[in-house]
Amino acid sequence: MKQTRATIFRRVLLLGILPASALTAQQPSRIDQNALKRAPSRPNEWLTYGRDYAETHYSPLKQIDDRNVGRLGLAWSYETHTVATFEDTPLIADGVIYGTGSWSVVFAVDARTGKEIWRHDPDVDRSFGPHACCGPNNRGVAIYDGMVYVGALDGRLIALDQKTGKTIWSVKTTEDEYQSITGAPRVVKGKVIIGNGGAEFGVRGYVSAYDAKTGKLAWRFYVVPGDPSKPFENPELAAAAKTWHGEWWKMGGGGTPWDAFAYDPVADLLYVGTGNGGPWNREVRSPGGGDNLYLSSILALKPETGRMVWYYQTTPGDQWDFTATQNMILMDIAIDGRQRKVIVQAPKNGFFYVLDRITGELISAKPFTDINWATGVDMKTGRPIETPNARYTNGPVLIWAGAGGAHSWQPMSYSPDTKLVYIPGTNAAFPFGPDPNFKFTRGRQNFAATFVSPPNAAPPPTPSGFLVAWDPATNTERWRVKYPSRPGGTLVTGGNLVFDSSPDGHLLAYSADKGEKLWDVALGPGIATPVTWLIDSKQYVAVLVGRNGGRLFTFALDAKEPIPALPSPPPGRGRGRGAGRQSQQSQ
Ligand code: CA
Repeated sequence: MKQTRATIFRRVLLLGILPASALTAQQPSRIDQNALKRAPSRPNEWLTYGRDYAETHYSPLKQIDDRNVGRLGLAWSYETHTVATFEDTPLIADGVIYGTGSWSVVFAVDARTGKEIWRHDPDVDRSFGPHACCGPNNRGVAIYDGMVYVGALDGRLIALDQKTGKTIWSVKTTEDEYQSITGAPRVVKGKVIIGNGGAEFGVRGYVSAYDAKTGKLAWRFYVVPGDPSKPFENPELAAAAKTWHGEWWKMGGGGTPWDAFAYDPVADLLYVGTGNGGPWNREVRSPGGGDNLYLSSILALKPETGRMVWYYQTTPGDQWDFTATQNMILMDIAIDGRQRKVIVQAPKNGFFYVLDRITGELISAKPFTDINWATGVDMKTGRPIETPNARYTNGPVLIWAGAGGAHSWQPMSYSPDTKLVYIPGTNAAFPFGPDPNFKFTRGRQNFAATFVSPPNAAPPPTPSGFLVAWDPATNTERWRVKYPSRPGGTLVTGGNLVFDSSPDGHLLAYSADKGEKLWDVALGPGIATPVTWLIDSKQYVAVLVGRNGGRLFTFALDAKEPIPALPSPPPGRGRGRGAGRQSQQSQ
């Protein structure tokens, strides 16, 4: 009955008899490919990690706006009982919020009241902790066809019943005990897409696609080539092997795609952001040089086969943990008077890239923070113009941006209203030098670099954080707010609001066009990424906070619940340290 009605609705919609809003009002309960494709026209929900396949982290909702945001108050909060770190962007579908805490625990709560509906602990063996490079974080789930998918820290991909939280299927996605999952899966054309982390630990990164119904592996695309004495998995890797030297496969090579995916349903291209090289120092990983494809790259793959259509390497021959795993956004914008379909990324290396997302052509690249490893990007070759000794072959050097990245897991967002991208970034330097005593050890952090400041150099300046509004059409800054460091990600809304967090534990709202601070509430440090939804004619904004009991705080206009008091920090530890430390480091 339900399905029939949904089918009729789709047909009616296709005939153009009803506007998209009529379908929205109906809110069919099945999240299928069409629903995901049409996510932008379902303003009341948040169906996939970036809210839409373009990964905008933008909601058109505007009940809460730049004039009334001061009236926001706490509607309810939900204690997740997973106190540690939070990096999650929750999803909202059919009046239910689906979120994750540390150790890949999934919870479903009522989007009106915060009442728990179910909770699923995949029981990741806590002894797995040291196998995971960057803490037990998880960034979220995917929903599709009655199931909720989570990538567990220990490498399992688990499909849960959306109504009950019970396991439907579970598969091991990792080939190696030192690969881990912290990123959110995506579902594209009935396939669950999942990556992994652990580049420093001596692993070979890849992205996999599983049948959403059965959990059967559909395809796997390796980011780096394997042992050349065996057949390469595809011609793409045979070509990549020409850019590697020595016996790289014995150290894995890295390239782990641990976070960023996007999908263009018209071009039918799945975009994947790939990780850094392992070990970091290319001279050790690939003696004699080479670009080391496809490290630190944006890949465009066919979602049905996993075959590559194009790639763009942001950091050829990576030497500094400059992953290109930071979230990518698709948008259609006018550049130099011409309408372009672009993909943008602000990876760790500090450049903001604008590419043609159909062809992979570089349109522009400009630094969005202080950098000194390159002076710019050559528009003829698309390659960075590296500075002397940036590769620290001649001894220690202080490199901007730091290894933590000018931008890391924290989602940036894009508003089609302001046509600006909001980048939550870090301004930092990091000392690099060669390590003559390096010995490769699987399962340990393999850098082949030392981190000692150059002699006679001033101590590295204290890192700082920022939120910058960036115009992708001109690749220039519009406005900037500074913080002492960078906590979570951003949300931008149709109410001309950008929600962001400060390291002292405040959730903040700025006007999206001008960057004026309009609202601010103290919740405790360890803030993840805010989301918004509308139910029963009321708009809510919510965010997970790691160090206030591991809590989902939910706000609405004129709500007046008291904010739970911050627990005292454990003795001998400041609030900014300890169990709630958010990972800025490499995966
Ligand atoms: Ca890394």
